[in-house]
Amino acid sequence: MQQLNLVIHNATGLHARPARAFVDIAKQFQSTIKIRHGEKQVNAKSLISVLTLGVAHGQQITVDVSGDDEDRAAAAIVAAVRDGLGEGPDTGQAPAVAEPQPPAPAAAPHQGAWQDGALMRGIAGAPGIAVGPIFRFERARVDVRERFVGLDHEHARLQAALDGARHQLNTLHAEVAQRADASEAEIFRVHRDILSDPALIDTVRAAIGDGRSAAEAWQAATAEHAAELAELSDALLAERAADIRDVGARVLRLLIGADQAAPELPDQQVIVVASDLTPSETVALDPQRVLGFCTALGGPNAHTAILARALGLPAVVSAGLAVLDLPAGTQVILDGGAGTLTVGPGADLITAARAAQRQQQRQRAEAARSAAEPAITLDGHRVEIVANIGGAGEAAPALQFGAEGVGLFRTEVLFLDEQRVAAPTEEEQFAIYRAVAQAFGGQPVIIRTLDIGGDKEVAYLDLPREDNPFLGVRGVRLCLERPELFRTQLRAILRAASFGQLRIMFPMIADLGELRAARAIVEELRAELGAPPVEVGIMIEVPSAALMADLLAREADFFSIGSNDLTQYTLAMDRMHPTLAGQADDLHPAVLRLIAQTVAGAHAAGKWVGVCGNLGSKPLAVPILIGLGVDELSIAVKDIPLVKAQIRTLSLAQCQERARQALQCATAAEVRAGG
Ligand code: PEP
Ligand code: MG
Repeated sequence: MQQLNLVIHNATGLHARPARAFVDIAKQFQSTIKIRHGEKQVNAKSLISVLTLGVAHGQQITVDVSGDDEDRAAAAIVAAVRDGLGEGPDTGQAPAVAEPQPPAPAAAPHQGAWQDGALMRGIAGAPGIAVGPIFRFERARVDVRERFVGLDHEHARLQAALDGARHQLNTLHAEVAQRADASEAEIFRVHRDILSDPALIDTVRAAIGDGRSAAEAWQAATAEHAAELAELSDALLAERAADIRDVGARVLRLLIGADQAAPELPDQQVIVVASDLTPSETVALDPQRVLGFCTALGGPNAHTAILARALGLPAVVSAGLAVLDLPAGTQVILDGGAGTLTVGPGADLITAARAAQRQQQRQRAEAARSAAEPAITLDGHRVEIVANIGGAGEAAPALQFGAEGVGLFRTEVLFLDEQRVAAPTEEEQFAIYRAVAQAFGGQPVIIRTLDIGGDKEVAYLDLPREDNPFLGVRGVRLCLERPELFRTQLRAILRAASFGQLRIMFPMIADLGELRAARAIVEELRAELGAPPVEVGIMIEVPSAALMADLLAREADFFSIGSNDLTQYTLAMDRMHPTLAGQADDLHPAVLRLIAQTVAGAHAAGKWVGVCGNLGSKPLAVPILIGLGVDELSIAVKDIPLVKAQIRTLSLAQCQERARQALQCATAAEVRAGG
């Protein structure tokens, strides 16, 4: 056995990302690996257990490693801890951590005078107005009456419930990915991981061994692990505790044969008020009966709010515990865009709210009716509106919602499919690209080459673990390092190119050399295949590319700005960071200045520029981007009609003035406030 005494230098101790990094390393080895801290010793392969150790910055842990590969495992652990567990060496300085900012309310035309009577203020969770009676959602208590029958019986029941929950979560993931999008569905993958956490499962099995039924054992183990995490009073761990409770309830219901999370709703339409809702409860709300919801707790960046936005359900979050005192049936007006709940409104307020609601609905319906029309400003400036898609199945809805082509086909989605054990073949890819090219006929379809790495991991590619994957071998860097992957994809695209108007786009270009190397491969393959000429563009999502836009524009046919990554790299704030992500505001003037510089470089060389990050569909950003000279917006399919409608209300001159003001702002808040 190897015993290691190690000091954790990470600013947050063995929390969040460092804990996950530690567990990921431990899982790579056969050896049994245990971490001791104070009185407590836990399995290093269980994230839940490692988090509950509560190791703080500068504290020591003792790691016991025993097994055939203990030497290699010990060496890897020592190196990883020394190198900062994914946060780089010398992470002793505590980073400035600020409260996540609530998103500013969108510039919605509906926010009228009736809000003056609002009695309760929360935070805008998801836009939209709802008027109706309150329904108090109380989580049903699950009574476990099952008693121990026999060891084999209980273990089999546990296994069946875990398999059932895994199946439900896979289905839920696929459903939400379809109703919303893949990143919003990610929470259900986190839940699936909890189902196989070794510490949790070991605790349950041990309790069954002691003569408890599977249901009793599971209920006790999940409650215990969740409570342990919640006690550590850390926002991130509290969220994990909530996830464990959510998964815990799901499996428990399967064990006792109860219905899943959907609350029993009355016949009439209601506004749900709850202390908080889990992601499972949120997606289970029947959209026919639930007009919106208000939670006492929660935040705008929590999964529940993200899901509500994705599902189009008006929501106010973090409204305070007083909302729980409102009697069931109380009439309220919920304004998800403003984050308010007007309690017991008089007839005038209800009339005004209903009028505002109707106006919003009219706007949506009008937008849908004119979705097929082009987006032309009042003074005759046309902006191309195209779709972001992740598979051939999205081509038809995109066309129906008025897409004028595809500005970003995230092809990594094909590779990330979890059923896969190998990369899609050339034939498979060819069939998909051809189908999309044909669906769009003469309209352009931009196929982004594989953007794997960073937060997107693919097990079967055996990519080496990196300390800082967002700054590692991702996007085009990976393609240049793994030419077999790249060439297969490019051949498939080039072969499909004669079936429509395909364009190729490289992600994560940081340097002209990468563009030249990638382009040279395209040209070589094109000659080999006798394929037609294809336009080749690049994503501008690394600050160096924005700064070098004038030179890159001479060798690229077009640019598309990946504002999600451009924001994280410009502000040096991880887009997935649990506390910083709220501040990584893509309306930051630094990001806007880089966009301005990109547009200037491209236009000087006669090339066009699109935006394919989330910024492109934000109502506040649309006029600024147009004013900055962006030629094309590539956005989520469901946003196309409203963005087109918004553009038809703007004038280019106004947008230019707005952009000029925004570039002079000192902070994102100033940009949001209108300069
Ligand atoms: C972006 O970074 O803005 C982008 C569109 O790419 P992705 O979100 O897929 O990284
Ligand atoms: Mg990106």
